[in-house]
Amino acid sequence: MFTGHVAIALAARRARSDLPLWTLVLVSQACDYVERLARPYTTIFDASVYSHAFPFVVIAALAVATLVGVWKRSLGAALFVLALYLSHPVVDYVTGFKPLWWHGPLVGLHFVERPAADFAIQGVMCMLGSAIYLGSLPPARRRQLVALVPLIFLLALQGLGDLFLRARGHGVTAPITSALGGGVSDRRGLRLR
Ligand SMILES: [Zn+2]
Repeated sequence: MFTGHVAIALAARRARSDLPLWTLVLVSQACDYVERLARPYTTIFDASVYSHAFPFVVIAALAVATLVGVWKRSLGAALFVLALYLSHPVVDYVTGFKPLWWHGPLVGLHFVERPAADFAIQGVMCMLGSAIYLGSLPPARRRQLVALVPLIFLLALQGLGDLFLRARGHGVTAPITSALGGGVSDRRGLRLR
């Protein structure tokens, strides 16, 4: 999932106007940044484990939440960021196929293999997130056409991404390693996201 995380950040902005939107977007996507940073140092599959699975994701979420809490001097902001960070792996299980925990089972609805369903789910999330975000803007600004730019951009991005998936197949054919044990290591060819 990509645009769905941004949609959650947009909706979250309405609840915490003291947290900049760019911070919320970064936090909502942080797991994927961690995964990309880890990839040069391990297998693609293990990078997914270290970035999205328990306990690693909880440790990273606590670290980011602590930083934001100190920055904003607010326990509420820290707890909010903690929940936002942890929302990432939860919604990834809808569109992707991820390990629940270290040495744990792979779970997910794997909608990324069905681009039309992927677009429908993430498109609806984008519309809902944008609608909630627009509600946080002053009425005069809300009525301007430019207020719809984020939604149009997200839908276009998601549409292009899903067209690409449809044309070429999605994601990463993971070289499953022994990190998750024999049962999983036999399942070559799984696509993750
Ligand atoms: Zn992810």
